[in-house]
Amino acid sequence: MIYDAASFSTYRHDFPMMAATNRGKPLVFLDSAASAQKPLAVINAMQQFYSQQYANIHRGIYEISESASHQFEQTRETVRQFIGAKKAEEIIFVSGTTAGINFIANTLSLGSDNRQAFKAGDEVILTEMEHHANIVPWYLLAKRIGIRLRVVPINDEGELDLAVYQSFFNDKTKLVAVSHVSNVLGTINPIKTMAEMAHHHNVPILVDGAQAAPHLPLNVTQLDVDFYTFSAHKLYGPTGIGVLYINERFLHDLPPYQGGGNMIRTVSFDEVTFAKPPHCFEAGTPSIASVIGLHAAINYLSTIGMDNVRAHELELLDYAETQLKSHPEITIYGRAKEKVGLLSFTLGAVHPHDIGTILDHAGIAVRAGHHCAMPLMERFKVPAMVRIAFGIYNNTADIDHFFQACESIKGMFQ
Ligand code: PMP
Repeated sequence: MIYDAASFSTYRHDFPMMAATNRGKPLVFLDSAASAQKPLAVINAMQQFYSQQYANIHRGIYEISESASHQFEQTRETVRQFIGAKKAEEIIFVSGTTAGINFIANTLSLGSDNRQAFKAGDEVILTEMEHHANIVPWYLLAKRIGIRLRVVPINDEGELDLAVYQSFFNDKTKLVAVSHVSNVLGTINPIKTMAEMAHHHNVPILVDGAQAAPHLPLNVTQLDVDFYTFSAHKLYGPTGIGVLYINERFLHDLPPYQGGGNMIRTVSFDEVTFAKPPHCFEAGTPSIASVIGLHAAINYLSTIGMDNVRAHELELLDYAETQLKSHPEITIYGRAKEKVGLLSFTLGAVHPHDIGTILDHAGIAVRAGHHCAMPLMERFKVPAMVRIAFGIYNNTADIDHFFQACESIKGMFQ
C-alpha cells in the first residue's frame, strides 16, 4: 500500500475522542505514547461482544462459549501474523508490557531442567533509557537474589553506546533486557544487531516493545529476539491486555508463572500436570473482551498498513522539527538518527509541569514529568520534561496549535 497523506484525515474521524473537549476547548491530543485513543472499530467490537456474544472461554460446552473461545484463539493467530512470529503458541496474553517483563523476570530467574536459576553475581544488561517497567523487576531480583545490573550508557543524541554493550558480555551474563523504542527520546534501538551480539555470547534478549509496536512494522522472527512484549492500549486497543512473545526455543523451557484454572491438565493435592504452551502460561480468566478489542485494533491497523502509519508519523515529526527552528528556547532531548514520532523538551527555565498545565487549559493534552524514566532525567540533568507524541489521528493543525500555545507560554514567563 502506498502512503497517501490525505487518507489520514479520514482516519481521524474513526476516533470519537477526536471530537471531545478538554477544559472546554476542542481536544488536541498529543499524548499517544501514554495511551492511544480508540477507533470505533475497537469500541464496536467490544460492545458487540459484551451485548451479543459474551461468555467465558475454554470451558463452556455451549455455542456462545465455543464462539468466544474461537474468537480468542483467532486473535492469537492475528497477533502472530502482526508481529511475524512463527507459531501461534509463541503468543501469550498478559495484562500489558509491565506484566510481560515481570513474567520473564520471574520465570527466567527460576531456572528449569535445562537452565540454572539466576544466582548472586549473575548479570542482566539494561540500558540508561529504560522505562521503570524494565528497571524495577530487575532491581527486585537484584535485591532478592543478588544479581548485578549492567547499564549501557547513551550519548547526547540519545543513542546507545554499542561498544560498551559489547564489552559487558561475560560468562556471568544471563539476559539482555532493552526497550525497542524509548518512550522519552523516541530512539529506535538497533535490536537486530543487539540480538546478534547477545546470541553470539549465548545470552537471550527480552525486548520491551511498548513504544515500538504502535509505530513500526514488526517482525520478531527477523529481529531474532527471544522475548518481546507490548501493551494493547498504546496500539489503539483496550487497557488490561498485552502480548508476550516467547520464541519457541524457550516455550517448553520456562516454568509456569502463575498457577490456577485454565493452565492445567490434571490436578490432585499430590501432583499437577500442565496444559501445553501457551495455555500453561495463562492462569485464570483472561480479559476476554479486551482480547476481542485487540483483534479489532490489529485488523484496523493492518488495513491502514504499518508502513503507512510510520510514514505519517515521520511526516508529522518532520513538520514539528521544521517549526522548532523558529523556537530556539525549546531544548529537545533525543536526536537519534532513527526515531519515532515523539519529542521531549524543556522550554527555557519554565517548569515542565507549568507548561503541561498551561497547555491543558488550551485543550492540549501532553505528558509532563519524569515519564517513568528517572535515570534518564538524571542523565540529562533535568527534573522533568514535556513530551508530545503523535498517532494516526494527529495532523499538522495539532502541531500548529501546540506551537501557538508555546508562544503564549514564552510571553507569560518573559
Ligand atoms: N515500557 C515503555 C517503553 C513504556 O512506554 C511503557 C508505558 N509508558 C511501559 C513499558 C509500560 O507499559 P504498561 O503500563 O502498559 O504496562
